[in-house]
Amino acid sequence: MHSLDILMAEDILMAEFDIIARYFSNLLPNKNNIALGVGDDAALYNLSEETQLAITIDTLVAGVHFPETTLPEDIAYKALAVNLSDLAAMGATPVWMTLALTCPQIEEVWLSKFSYGLSKLAEIAQINLIGGDTTQGPLTVTIQAAGLVPFGQALHRQGAKSGDGIYVTGTLGDAGLGLASILGQINLPKSFRYYTEARLNRPIPRWLEGQNLRGIATSAIDISDGLIADLGHILTMSSVGAQIDLEQLPLSEAISTTLSPIEAWELALTAGDDYELCFTVPPNREKLLVDILSTSNYSKIGIIESTPGIRCITPEGMTFTPKGQGYQHFS
Ligand code: ADP
Ligand code: MG
Repeated sequence: MHSLDILMAEDILMAEFDIIARYFSNLLPNKNNIALGVGDDAALYNLSEETQLAITIDTLVAGVHFPETTLPEDIAYKALAVNLSDLAAMGATPVWMTLALTCPQIEEVWLSKFSYGLSKLAEIAQINLIGGDTTQGPLTVTIQAAGLVPFGQALHRQGAKSGDGIYVTGTLGDAGLGLASILGQINLPKSFRYYTEARLNRPIPRWLEGQNLRGIATSAIDISDGLIADLGHILTMSSVGAQIDLEQLPLSEAISTTLSPIEAWELALTAGDDYELCFTVPPNREKLLVDILSTSNYSKIGIIESTPGIRCITPEGMTFTPKGQGYQHFS
C-alpha cells in the first residue's frame, strides 16, 4: 500500500477529536488578544478590558445532520439554534452571525421558507446576519455566530470541582426519540410525534439561562452529542469524574410513557441533538439557582467526584452502562 493510502486508512479510523487535536490545535502560539482557542464551545477574543467576543461555527449537512425530508424553515432554524446553543454554553449574549449556504439549485420557494425560519429565531435571539457566502453544491448550511460576554465571566468546560452538583436544563432524549420516529423506527402517538419532532427540528437554545449562570456555574457545555459524551468533555477538561443518579434524569412524558426505564435512560444518556445545557454548581451556590433559573425547568442529576469516569446508578443502587457512546462524527 502507498504510504498516503496507509495514512488515509488510519485517518478514517480517527475520531473527530483526534483529528482536531492532531491537525488543528495550536497552529500558532496564542496571541492577538485570543483568550481561548480550540477546545471549548466557542473561542474567546478580548475586545476590550471589559468585554470578550465568543465565536463559534457549526455545519449541517443534508442526510448527515438532518434527514433530506426536513423542511427548509426547520433546517435554517436549527442551523442557527445549534450555534446559539454553543454561545449559551459560554454564557454569551448573541450579537451577529454569518451564513454560508451551499444548495443544489436556486429554488425561490425553498429559499423564502429557509429565510423565514432563520429570521424567526434571529428575531427572538436578537442576532443580526452580517455576511456570508452562497454556492452551488450538495445542501450544506454553515453558520458562524458571535456573542458578547463581560471580561472573564465566560463559562468553560473546565472548572468543575469534586462535590459540585451536575445539572441539566429541560428534558433529555426527546430529539433522539423524534429522529427514531421520523426514521420509522418507532410508532408514536400523534401528540408525542409532533412534540419530539419539534424538539429535533426546532430546539430552544438556552442562551438566557447560559447568561444567568455566569458567576454561578463552575463549568458548562451544551448537549449536542448526548449527555455522556458532552459531560465527558467537562470531566476531561476539569480532571474529575461523575456519578449520575438515573432516577433524576429529566424525561418528558413522550419518553417516560412510551419507553421502558432502560430504553429511556439509554436515550437520555446517549442521544444527541437536545441542545440543553449541562453545568456544574458548587453546593454553596445551589440556592442562587432558584432565583436565576426560576422560570426554566432544570434538574440536578448527579455529583462531580474526584475519581475519573462516569458512574450511572439505577434506583436500586446498581451501576448501569449505556450501550451507545453518544454521537460520533467519524464512526
Ligand atoms: P461543539 O460540539 O461545541 O460545536 P465541536 O465538538 O464541534 O464543538 O468541536 C470541539 C472543539 O474543536 C471546538 O472548540 C471547535 O471550535 C474545535 N474545532 C472543531 N473542528 C475544528 C477545525 N477543523 N479546526 C479548528 N478547530 C476545530
Ligand atoms: Mg457545544
